[in-house]
Amino acid sequence: MNLEKTVQGVRAQVKEWRREGLRIGLVPTMGYLHEGHKSLIERAVMENDRVIVSVFVNPIQFGPNEDYGTYPRDLKADMRLCEEAGASVVFAPDVSEMYCDDFSTFVDMNGVTGELCGKSRPAHFRGVCTVVSKLFHIAAPDRAYFGQKDAQQLAVIRHMARDLNMDIEIVGCPIVRESDGLAKSSRNTYLSKEERTAATVIARALLAGRTMLENGERDGDPVLCEIRRIISTEPLAKIDYVEMVTWDRIEIHHTADVPVLVAAAVWIGKTRLIDNFIFERE
Ligand code: AMP
Repeated sequence: MNLEKTVQGVRAQVKEWRREGLRIGLVPTMGYLHEGHKSLIERAVMENDRVIVSVFVNPIQFGPNEDYGTYPRDLKADMRLCEEAGASVVFAPDVSEMYCDDFSTFVDMNGVTGELCGKSRPAHFRGVCTVVSKLFHIAAPDRAYFGQKDAQQLAVIRHMARDLNMDIEIVGCPIVRESDGLAKSSRNTYLSKEERTAATVIARALLAGRTMLENGERDGDPVLCEIRRIISTEPLAKIDYVEMVTWDRIEIHHTADVPVLVAAAVWIGKTRLIDNFIFERE
């Protein structure tokens, strides 16, 4: 497995693979990799001949008061995990390699980004769409892998690929959780012991909501009320949002009569965590 720090290095490698007729999978990440990322890489390895994992903490998707500066980084450990999972290349560029001094072109979107994290983090998806477009141009993959953990991001990338005629299959992968239900996240490392225990309330509350829907409830309001109620029982938790939206367009929806995404963002102390589930009526 190779480490590439430059766009040119990845391009040269990709060109060679293309000449050999190999299929290429891309897994974009911000590093500090865990089992959730690993599941994406392993899936990509199964479905492609070569896999590129990008490790890049993208400054333009963070707001001014967010955690860009403190986001955890450990490239050595990331390389080990990628190697174990069967990746061929880790692309870990410096910020200056991705954004030149007078960088001024952005990819943005209306609609899908209006609710949930798009509402709480106004410039976030513009940053995500821009960096993912760049990665798609650099790695020219056949398929790209994204986790349902960031469900709105997955929907946003699907829309972007469709709208801009990117000939790349966007593959969504299920959420990987800790044994107590907490969705795995690089940001879980910010949590104190007390907060780590408190954080389990998010998955517990969502599961209660999901159970209501599985038992036949179709009205979103009592489901969201119950999820909010359960989260509010935890003194260290503060709700950013708990919403039900259509799974394809991420629009607020009050009835589970179409595939819906029930998503939550919750502050546990100073750490903002997200989790969700998708419900489709049989
Ligand atoms: P990040 O490094 O947080 O930007 O995540 C990179 C990719 O890994 C995104 O597509 C995430 O949705 C995905 N991912 C992160 N955590 C998980 C998880 N617990 N389960 C599945 N996918 C995940």
